[in-house]
Amino acid sequence: MRIENEIKLDYKDVLIRPKRSTLKSRKEVDLNRTYKFRNSKQNWTGIPIMAANMDGVGTFDMALALGDLDLFTCLAKQYSWMDWGTDLNPHTSRKRIAISIGTNQNQYNTAKKIIDEFALKWICIDIANGYSEHFADFVKQVRSDYPNHNIIAGNVVTADMTQELILAGADVVKVGIGPGSVCTTRIQTGVGYPQLSAVIECADAAHGLGGHIIADGGCTCPGDVAKAFGAGADFVMLGGMLAGHVEGGGQESILDGQHVRMFYGMSSDTAMNKHSGGVADYRSSEGRTVFVPDRGKVRDTVLDILGGLRSTCTYVGAPTLKQLSKCTTFVRCTQQFNGVFVK
Ligand code: 5GP
Repeated sequence: MRIENEIKLDYKDVLIRPKRSTLKSRKEVDLNRTYKFRNSKQNWTGIPIMAANMDGVGTFDMALALGDLDLFTCLAKQYSWMDWGTDLNPHTSRKRIAISIGTNQNQYNTAKKIIDEFALKWICIDIANGYSEHFADFVKQVRSDYPNHNIIAGNVVTADMTQELILAGADVVKVGIGPGSVCTTRIQTGVGYPQLSAVIECADAAHGLGGHIIADGGCTCPGDVAKAFGAGADFVMLGGMLAGHVEGGGQESILDGQHVRMFYGMSSDTAMNKHSGGVADYRSSEGRTVFVPDRGKVRDTVLDILGGLRSTCTYVGAPTLKQLSKCTTFVRCTQQFNGVFVK
């Protein structure tokens, strides 16, 4: 047994220090980024915020709505060839969507047909524990099958594994184990890594090799999204912050007189019952099922997040999102905000 004594931080443990700025208005801030990916050699431009590949978030309607705002969607894994055929809106930009797969060969064979048929450009290889030995081998296989596609792989939380996945062929490594809003991994297993520190350390490791990272999970408010970018994230992935909208299609009901939508972790009982015919005896659920107040269309939520992010940039003097991390100094704090009127 060993203990690492260096303190690791979450978003809530820091604030961003304001700095002298010549920007007059948040209108002047450009949130678009252009990346050249290390392995696919492709260029990409857009606002680097992603909807998570979860039921209720990573849907075709969400992809269309977010694509119109230049944001990105990782579609949920469970969509079949038929679903892609009927539900993918022809106006959805292929630059702004990824198909999600696990490491199951049958699933991959189906995914290959979808990738070819619908001319997809992004593949998100997503497993809960990116530390399994076979994972990097699987990433290598997908890279050799698709030399020019953009490949996302995760999830991991440390520099060593970030580098291994990039060297195996991933362009973008997804970072986060346990921080999610409907995740119970830390409770069920005791495993995890404070998300801000994970992002800082993995971004540093990836950038050293010319790779990129996604800060996945743990953002509770626009300020957390800004902190993730400030910490060096190239993309930020959101589940809970984009849940509860019309486009997610979560099951609706009335709870205590309030219009709510169901939202659940992809390792929850609800997800396993829906997609895998129940929770296998050898495993336990690592996700929660919650009811989120209905939030209407996602556009207003996105504009609120982008407005917050532009404001962060003006507070620290960053004319573009690209410059945000260079302009960021975090200060450690004991209280993120004044919660006196917050339930
Ligand atoms: P959020 O933005 O809601 O805080 O986090 C979203 C992320 O939580 C997802 O992108 C995914 O990585 C993670 N996640 C989704 N469902 C589950 C689950 O059932 N269990 C765990 N451990 N993580 C989940």
